[in-house]
Amino acid sequence: MFESLSERLEGAFKNLKGEAKITELNIAATVKEIRRALVDADVNYKIAKEFTDKVKDIALGTKVINAVSPGQLMTKIVKDELANLMGGTESSFNITGNPAVILIAGLQGSGKTTFSGKLANYLKSKGKSPLLVAADIYRPAAIDQLMVLGGQVGVEVYSERENKNAVEIAQNAIKEARAKNKNVVIIDTAGRLAVDEVMMTEVANIKSAVNPHEILFVVDSMTGQDAVNTAKAFNERLDFSGVVLTKLDGDTRGGAALSIKYTVEKPIKFVSSGEKLDTLDVFYPERMAQRILGMGDITTLVEKAQAQYDEVEAKRLEKKIRKNQFDFQDFLDQLQQIKKMGNLKDLMAMIPGVGKAIKDVDISDDAFKGIEAIIKSMTPFERSNPDEINQSRKLRIAKGSGKDMTEVNAFMKQFDQMRDMMKMMNKMPMGMGKMPGMR
Ligand code: GDP
Repeated sequence: MFESLSERLEGAFKNLKGEAKITELNIAATVKEIRRALVDADVNYKIAKEFTDKVKDIALGTKVINAVSPGQLMTKIVKDELANLMGGTESSFNITGNPAVILIAGLQGSGKTTFSGKLANYLKSKGKSPLLVAADIYRPAAIDQLMVLGGQVGVEVYSERENKNAVEIAQNAIKEARAKNKNVVIIDTAGRLAVDEVMMTEVANIKSAVNPHEILFVVDSMTGQDAVNTAKAFNERLDFSGVVLTKLDGDTRGGAALSIKYTVEKPIKFVSSGEKLDTLDVFYPERMAQRILGMGDITTLVEKAQAQYDEVEAKRLEKKIRKNQFDFQDFLDQLQQIKKMGNLKDLMAMIPGVGKAIKDVDISDDAFKGIEAIIKSMTPFERSNPDEINQSRKLRIAKGSGKDMTEVNAFMKQFDQMRDMMKMMNKMPMGMGKMPGMR
């Protein structure tokens, strides 16, 4: 995400290397390069210019104290201002109504339906009881798609295939929610390929009829300045309450994320990266600014880990490790836990400094697939008795998993080394469970 922008900004700060203090003269090149980097990331020129003028003013007005270099100071100023540009602080999300009504709008293909599914899943995990509503009366496939997503996240979907009145469908859905004690209604509306009067009128009519608590405008972040223009058009008609930026997992330059708040004066509330339904993120401007500047985002990483952290399971595992009983099944369970946290490369990029290092490395979620296939081809007995796996069992496992013997052997060897390492740690005086920083 935003890799090229990150690299360019980092390069810009290098211009200040060796300088003892900040002067109008020595920050000129840095400021110019920041502006160019922003424009190349598809940020509107006016926004980029205003941004760098402000950064320059702050930098010239700040005294460089001995402890920080001008480069570090500029990085801090740019980070703060990037966060401000994206809204400053986290914004609220109103789901206090009963039911709370959330209207989802945006162009076709922006990721509305996928987001609706993610939001339903997210709210469900927060203890809410959502109802998804398919209000697209033009494409029966859109209803089917929402049905599938609803099924995947275990959330009921309301639809009326024969009804051609989207306003009525939305109103009926709210009645249904009341009758069934659902406390959040998520209405997925029809989109068009481009901004279009019929679509706008329809969404505006739904808005007047159901008076939503939140109107979220969903936009594909890969579309850069177009995303900003579409946002403007939707905001004029709908006066939406927040923006959802999707497809941040793709090759996004950053323009949409950095310009939308400035342009429509509405906060980005969620970002969505990937098609996995459990990877919806609340948008935190400060954390995003940190990521853009290659500072990582440990806070989000820890939160993701905590969301998956199961105290009982952790205790069970700790005990098994201590008794040298860690087996293939435990290993498989752990892999699956990690995968639930999200896209592997995105996760690793949240560690400060790692993002840049792995920029060109192909780390796909498929990296685990081979290992999973091998373990899944084992019998339950083999999974819990790694030492009992002899040559003929290995042959059968290789055949079952579609891997060759070299791969199976290599994995077995790695697994043994891992267990040796665990044994060694158990022998350490403090013991594994009491190591600093471990829970
Ligand atoms: P809608 O027409 O606005 O409802 O859009 P969809 O939810 O159907 O999404 C359009 C396409 O984008 C589908 O192929 C989705 O799988 C894909 N998509 C949606 N959100 C994301 C995302 O965050 N990342 C990626 N890579 N693809 C996404």
